[in-house]
Amino acid sequence: MRRKIVAANWKMNGSEEMVRTLLKDVKSGVAGLDKGVEVVIIPPSLYLRDVQQEVKGSQLRLGAQNVARWQAGAYTGEVAAEMLSDFDCRYVLVGHSERRQLFAESESVVAEKLQQVLGANLNVMLCVGETLEQRQAGQAEQVVCEQLSSALAGLQGRQWQQVVVAYEPVWAIGTGKTATAEDAQSMHAVMRKQLAKLGAPAEEITLLYGGSVKPESAVGLFQQPDIDGGLIGGASLVAADFVEICKAL
Ligand code: PGA
Repeated sequence: MRRKIVAANWKMNGSEEMVRTLLKDVKSGVAGLDKGVEVVIIPPSLYLRDVQQEVKGSQLRLGAQNVARWQAGAYTGEVAAEMLSDFDCRYVLVGHSERRQLFAESESVVAEKLQQVLGANLNVMLCVGETLEQRQAGQAEQVVCEQLSSALAGLQGRQWQQVVVAYEPVWAIGTGKTATAEDAQSMHAVMRKQLAKLGAPAEEITLLYGGSVKPESAVGLFQQPDIDGGLIGGASLVAADFVEICKAL
């Protein structure tokens, strides 16, 4: 049940033109790739429809970067989880460090969003990760375990099948600094233990690594026993790099 996933988080980048050209290259680049590998494109919400059209009938899947913590209603500017399912979104990012830091999303907001995603029968990609200060203070594992607990405590039975977790150390995101494959593996092993404590079928949960993944670093990361794929930011905007990373899995 553990999936292999490479996801492209475009962040606030893109245009109609980019959707067409980049996806054309990605589609042809990943054709022939092991069908067991899910390649997920996560564009800004304005382009969900365009990407949905482009990925139809291909190996690519669609994801969303954000979701409201409420059901549909008087929340100007927000997008409800139910709406994302209208677009065939398979995954929704929750808890990305940019949302936590730049939009002050607290642990309780992250948990509420996660519940909305599960309630709409979509899959969540929960992002967790420590800051540089927390790592230097020796608190990395504790921080990550607490983030997992506050978002996932109380999940039951088949809800776990809707959960993918991405370990994204904040100091590695967009900085060009990647965790070593060994450090990433050791955190992933800790995460599996924590998931088991929370009642998850831990060996079956898909765990991704994210943070400045490049074609050169992907191979070593993806060889680790507890790393099931990657969440890719910067390198997902360059078709050739992104395809290389998909092939590394
Ligand atoms: P990056 O972003 O690959 O540019 O570091 C990863 C992410 O934020 O998901």
